[in-house]
Amino acid sequence: MSFTNEPLLELRRAPVRAGLTDALIALALPWSVPVIVAGERRDAPTFTSTDPGAPTRVVAEVTAATEADVDAAVHAAARAAPAWEAKGAHARAAILSRAAGELRRRRPQLAALAVRECAKPWPEADADVCEAIDFLEYYAQRAIALESTDGLVQLPGERNTLRYAARGVVAVVGPWNFPLAIPAGMVAAGLATGNGVVLKPAEQSPACALALVEAFHAAGVPPAALNLLPGEGDVGAALVAHPGVHTIAFTGSGAVGLSILKTAAELQPGQRHLKRVVAEMGGKNCVIVDADADLDDAVPALVYSAFGFAGQKCSAAARALVHHRVKDTLLERLHGAVDQLLIDQAERFGVDVPPVIEPAARDRIHAFVQTARDQGARVHQPGTVPPHGHFVAPAVIDGLPVGSRVTEEEIFGPVLAVESVRSVDEACAIVGAQPFALTGGLFSRDPATVERVSRLLPVGNLYVNRHITGAMVARQPFGGNRLSGTGTKAGGPDYLLQFVEPRVVTEDT
Ligand code: GLU
Repeated sequence: MSFTNEPLLELRRAPVRAGLTDALIALALPWSVPVIVAGERRDAPTFTSTDPGAPTRVVAEVTAATEADVDAAVHAAARAAPAWEAKGAHARAAILSRAAGELRRRRPQLAALAVRECAKPWPEADADVCEAIDFLEYYAQRAIALESTDGLVQLPGERNTLRYAARGVVAVVGPWNFPLAIPAGMVAAGLATGNGVVLKPAEQSPACALALVEAFHAAGVPPAALNLLPGEGDVGAALVAHPGVHTIAFTGSGAVGLSILKTAAELQPGQRHLKRVVAEMGGKNCVIVDADADLDDAVPALVYSAFGFAGQKCSAAARALVHHRVKDTLLERLHGAVDQLLIDQAERFGVDVPPVIEPAARDRIHAFVQTARDQGARVHQPGTVPPHGHFVAPAVIDGLPVGSRVTEEEIFGPVLAVESVRSVDEACAIVGAQPFALTGGLFSRDPATVERVSRLLPVGNLYVNRHITGAMVARQPFGGNRLSGTGTKAGGPDYLLQFVEPRVVTEDT
């Protein structure tokens, strides 16, 4: 299998930047996002998505799906699935690869949508498109590999075959923070393995979802094999509870993930199968900085991991556990680095900290910072924020009391807690005591320390001497353990196994 990641745009080149700016202007907002069931569009807008940097700018006028739409979409996907599966992995992979081509063709438009609808800075928006393309190409290849997997022992007179059949209908419940890559990945995994798919995107990013669905359909995915149900949490809840859904692929908050797991475990009238849940939830990710760390590496990596995209990645750095001998130096340098961050609109090239997604998120993050102040911690939060948009200035906090909410709960914003530890082992014990286990980081020059920490930490993705976000498809299969998720690895060789059921045939010959 040969796979290479889609190359990022060279944003230092003026013509590339100009092309993106043109795409932003050409978006012709607002978009209209309908319910799409079996290719039929129902357009009767009930809510909007808006630009987090200019809240009066409507990005999309959106039709929320009803219960009847949910039911129709699940039935459409179920009806479409057998013929889609019967095409075989090679034919499905060819269509997914064509869909990747459609995304490539629409790259500037897709990135511009992510900038407008989710306030992703250009490099992050471009990376989101590239990751979506990667997922399509990678799962297309993995589906072919899965079809040719067997490896059973054969005896004379007995032929054993193992086949991975599609499970049926996949409900994809997507997040807004990677509005292209993550829904595209979950949809592609479902389709590559021969399932019918119903996509319920985050209510904050419906236009991005529409652009994806149109690209899949344009590439030849049968309309009924991929349905779109925009809406709020109630739509997702109805979809997850539907007895016709076999697999639920979810990325989002821990609270929603747990409720999905609970709902999926309840047998609905008419349901004759167990639902499987692939859940990617929150994190409270720690970066350990040992006394011998190269701070020239650690400081920019921490700043990017904690404050890139305003900390709105489940992989983002939330706690720096720093050896007491270097803590003061590191803190001073972190303060200096944060002082230089550019807080501005997502479309401004070179911006470091864009606005957060919505007012509720801004208020929640501010409340955490206020808690830190109330608890007597030192809050370094320089920078003035632009007058419009849901901005939160990045904050570095130290001196928090043990057990503070600020160090225990996921904030999902540009807030980094810095704590002093007496040793790497103490830091490992802190990480080990956390309920989350998504990403982690280590800065150390000692190979023995790297080896020990790699064995000790329960996190799904540990990064050594670098930033801790931005897992690449096929290179860093991504996903967490404990309360961070079901332990499945998006962009990894085993991911598709979640979307199939194994069947063995034994024939006496
Ligand atoms: N895969 C992303 C990363 O490695 C994070 C995904 C998320 O925030 O859900 O940074």
